[in-house]
Amino acid sequence: MIEQLQKIKDAMMQPIYEKRRHLGCEFCGTTFYGHYQKTGLNNVPNGKESPHPTKKGWITAHTYDDVFYPDCPSCLYPLGVREAKEALAVYNHHKEKERQKTERQAKKDAKPVKVSARLTYPNKKAYEDRLNLLAKEPDQMTKHEMMCDYFLDKVFWKKFKRGGRLMMQVRNFTIEKMLHDGRYKSNSGKSTMGYCTPFFIITNIITGKVRRIGVDAVRQHIELEEKYGKNRRNDPKRNFGLPNG
Ligand SMILES: [Zn+2]
Repeated sequence: MIEQLQKIKDAMMQPIYEKRRHLGCEFCGTTFYGHYQKTGLNNVPNGKESPHPTKKGWITAHTYDDVFYPDCPSCLYPLGVREAKEALAVYNHHKEKERQKTERQAKKDAKPVKVSARLTYPNKKAYEDRLNLLAKEPDQMTKHEMMCDYFLDKVFWKKFKRGGRLMMQVRNFTIEKMLHDGRYKSNSGKSTMGYCTPFFIITNIITGKVRRIGVDAVRQHIELEEKYGKNRRNDPKRNFGLPNG
């Protein structure tokens, strides 16, 4: 009885395996002729569909238990294979997305890089080249570049490949990178908030004149600390968002 049923089933399935099909790979875009197989990793849909259990508007495509797509002959990866037309559509869609992404990035990279009001570079490449040059030859740094804490920080990172307290010399100036620890405990005292802010002390070694760069960003942290201490639990304005009293 079971043997007979198996025979009927085999007879029904035979045409599925024997039919020559135009297939394709959505990963590499190859199309080829081949047959469905009795074993493999990528099950062929059996035509039945049902609503997706969680995603609204999506459908689940059901598959045969014993009918599989062959591997892609080009990239040998089995999971991207489906009907040629569908595979090409998916492949081209991704290729187009990739092309648009590259194009957007290229446009972005071609735009001027505006670091500050007085510091603009023609494009991203020119900006990167400038940072690389200054990491090797700090003496070439301009006055405006020395006055910008954001830019100085970039040069320090390029030169030393690490953060923290560091020093470099530019002509007759020493530039010290300092860190203001602006971290504090959250209201509950459990998590750490805030961050370390870099600032720079530039000393003219001929005149002894000292100039601080980037202290404005630090001042806010310092003022908060002086008022409430490192722990913001002392801050009366921090009340878990509940009304006072
Ligand atoms: Zn492929």
